[in-house]
Amino acid sequence: MDNIFPGIVVDHFYCKNEHVQAFFLTHWHKDHIKGLTFSWKKGTIYCSEVTKNIIDKARPTIDPDKVVAMKPYETITVCGTQVTMMDANHMAGSAMFFFDNHVRSVMYTGDYRYHHTMILPNRADIVFIDGTFNRKPIRMLTMPQSCQLLHSWLTNNDHDPSNPLYVGYFHFGTLTLLYGTYMEYGCKFRLEQKRMTEEDYNICLIMYPDMWDQNSRNIVTPVYARNKEPLPDPIIMASTGWSMMEENHDHMGTITKDRRGHYRMNFSNHSDIYENEEMLLRMPHQEVHYIE
Ligand SMILES: [Zn+2]
Repeated sequence: MDNIFPGIVVDHFYCKNEHVQAFFLTHWHKDHIKGLTFSWKKGTIYCSEVTKNIIDKARPTIDPDKVVAMKPYETITVCGTQVTMMDANHMAGSAMFFFDNHVRSVMYTGDYRYHHTMILPNRADIVFIDGTFNRKPIRMLTMPQSCQLLHSWLTNNDHDPSNPLYVGYFHFGTLTLLYGTYMEYGCKFRLEQKRMTEEDYNICLIMYPDMWDQNSRNIVTPVYARNKEPLPDPIIMASTGWSMMEENHDHMGTITKDRRGHYRMNFSNHSDIYENEEMLLRMPHQEVHYIE
């Protein structure tokens, strides 16, 4: 980005160019915040309000005045370039950025899940697109379909109603699914604090403040803790990677038990390739670059 709009980078905190002053952050996922350490002070960070709240909590050593919260669809001028932030429909606080300096314009999606109601610029010279699933011609379930699947598992009569139900999560992205299920069906979830890092626990509360209920039977537990303690039973795991494996294509739209006895369901907060194509059709452009 710095070679197109001097002084600006996106999701690139280990950038070594000293003239770069503006660091845009699409969302708080580990692969996008690499280099954003406690001692980081290279310039100003621009992000959504939710992401700013997370940074202020998770990186208290960074000057809060150097973390600027943008409003959705508001345009600001940074380093001589107009920048508009748009919702990426990926997880709480996730953003896409549109840059325009009247010479060139760039749409930078970051991780995003396309939806036809998304507000997009009506053109862009260059599009940088999250290419997570761009090699796999698979239709992913829509978010409402995934929420319906999770809700049906949570309310399935086969489960002993007195036992807790565990939902394993791999990263904060999974919380998008839980939030959708909460919004659609009113399911609340309990965070299993003892298995989580303090930072992750606090971030979960910041991202989705209203869907937690410490009396809920549905317990959210991080899967990364499995080396410390065995995972409880029964547990459902919602993971995009699982559904992308060839042998699981027959199970799209269903919940299946894996070899370890854990239930697996398909879920994606990334666009499938058809959604990427649809997005590009809506936005006349000259170049597309997929970021893996
Ligand atoms: Zn992400």
